[in-house]
Amino acid sequence: MKRKMYVAALCLLILLFSGCSGRKQEVRMDEAAASLTENSPDDKYRTSYEIFVYSFCDSDGDGIGDLKGIEEKLDYIGETMGFNQIWTTPVFPSPTYHKYDASDYLSIDPQFGTMEDFDRLLAACHEKGIRWILDLAVNHTSVEHPWFQQAAAYLRELPPDWEPSVDYCPYFDYYHFSREYQSGYAALEGTNWYYEARFWEGMPDLNLDSQAVRAELTDILRFWLDKGVDGFRLDALTSYYTDDIDASVAFTRWLTETVRSIAPDAYLVGEVWADQSVYSRYYESGIDSLFDFRFAGDSGVITQVAMGSRSAAKLAEDLRSEEELYRSISPQAVNAPFYTNHDMARGAGYYGYDKGGRTKLALGLNLMMTGNAFIYYGEEIGMKGSGKDENKRAPMYWSADGLEEGMCSGPPDMDSFDQKFDSVKAQLEDPDSILNYCRAAIRIRKAFPVIARGATVPQEEWLNETICAFTREGEEMEPVLILINTSEAAQTVDLQESPYKQIAGVLASASDKAVLKGTKLTVPALGIVILRQQ
Ligand code: CA
Repeated sequence: MKRKMYVAALCLLILLFSGCSGRKQEVRMDEAAASLTENSPDDKYRTSYEIFVYSFCDSDGDGIGDLKGIEEKLDYIGETMGFNQIWTTPVFPSPTYHKYDASDYLSIDPQFGTMEDFDRLLAACHEKGIRWILDLAVNHTSVEHPWFQQAAAYLRELPPDWEPSVDYCPYFDYYHFSREYQSGYAALEGTNWYYEARFWEGMPDLNLDSQAVRAELTDILRFWLDKGVDGFRLDALTSYYTDDIDASVAFTRWLTETVRSIAPDAYLVGEVWADQSVYSRYYESGIDSLFDFRFAGDSGVITQVAMGSRSAAKLAEDLRSEEELYRSISPQAVNAPFYTNHDMARGAGYYGYDKGGRTKLALGLNLMMTGNAFIYYGEEIGMKGSGKDENKRAPMYWSADGLEEGMCSGPPDMDSFDQKFDSVKAQLEDPDSILNYCRAAIRIRKAFPVIARGATVPQEEWLNETICAFTREGEEMEPVLILINTSEAAQTVDLQESPYKQIAGVLASASDKAVLKGTKLTVPALGIVILRQQ
């Protein structure tokens, strides 16, 4: 009897380990995703969703997205898609639809709702395990901000031969006023004065050297952090001190340290739209994250690799070298890879001939990167939008008939155009949709903490023009091997003596399978396969 049990146990062991020898594994994307469970610690290596508030979800039928609308879609964002952080574009009162020019930093724009709506959304986010970071543009205000209005009124009344004094109007020192025209300055109507306004005359640049301005900013940061927001996305860091990187980095450090002094665990990500050699320098400030512009947009690394115009082999080295670069500047650096944002043409338009495979691959590449990965709303369904800015901020395509709850009318002056891929409603039902691919990618990302937190180690033996291969490794985390096929045909690689012998995740067209037979692994067309050791 004992002997029989021994034989049975031995058979079971052989079965369990048979994957190492000759067992054939055939795995589809949905099967692999279904077997994975979330396993990520609650840290700053998140998966984030950028929401352009005006165009995301309208709760009251005026066609304008709002905070209640976002609350209605939190289950879609969190439970369905798997995002665990949202970044909302600015929600403060502002005369523009994009609201990057605040006329008040301490309340909510009435188009978007009330402070009660804000508090309820924040509580709902936290209840569902979603962090919320606010967009903060402090390089400039709106001309309608009372600080600017009072400074302008003072200068209009000041006799032409008098020198202005902050004793009479402290707000004079909040901006850069000059009697002489300088590049980047606008004329102040009704006076002989000019003011710095680098973006346009409606956005006067704040004087960030002013101690009074810094005191105001400290109060603003404290107000929102005390409410419990999880941090900020900082706008336009290169403009803090135009053409002066050292001064801009120093101001970013001041902001970071001020935030830390109020809320030590708050998360900060900065927008430094510049070359990698420039934006990486801002890690000197101690900021958590900087958007990874080198990988983003229509000519970024992600697009080039997804398009096939950049060698897949190079991607492994691109990833390894940038991780090393950021860490060498700040050991705490958390990269913020993204593919598109509200200032960029949307991804689907990068590949006119694409039936979805390359749009998916680009999302997969974005989500397999280290750090806190950001996805712009609508990219998860391959929305279109290019040309003027308004087109890049088109209404979230909830349903084709436009009748789905929450459909927005979009920014004024947006062109009318048709979407290339299906709506959210249709894609949720389609196992082969871009949306379901994106979901699977996020699931893999969260099942293997090392994907966001580890280091990329290129695997030279398999690298070629259309195969990228690297492991992700990190202390006390299960390592994975990631193989990416950027060609439109399935490709087989020989894993030989590799310890990675179990298919753990697949990102591909729904009908394709990753196949491991013996040591031969077939990676589907435009597919990504994630392997674990046994
Ligand atoms: Ca509304």
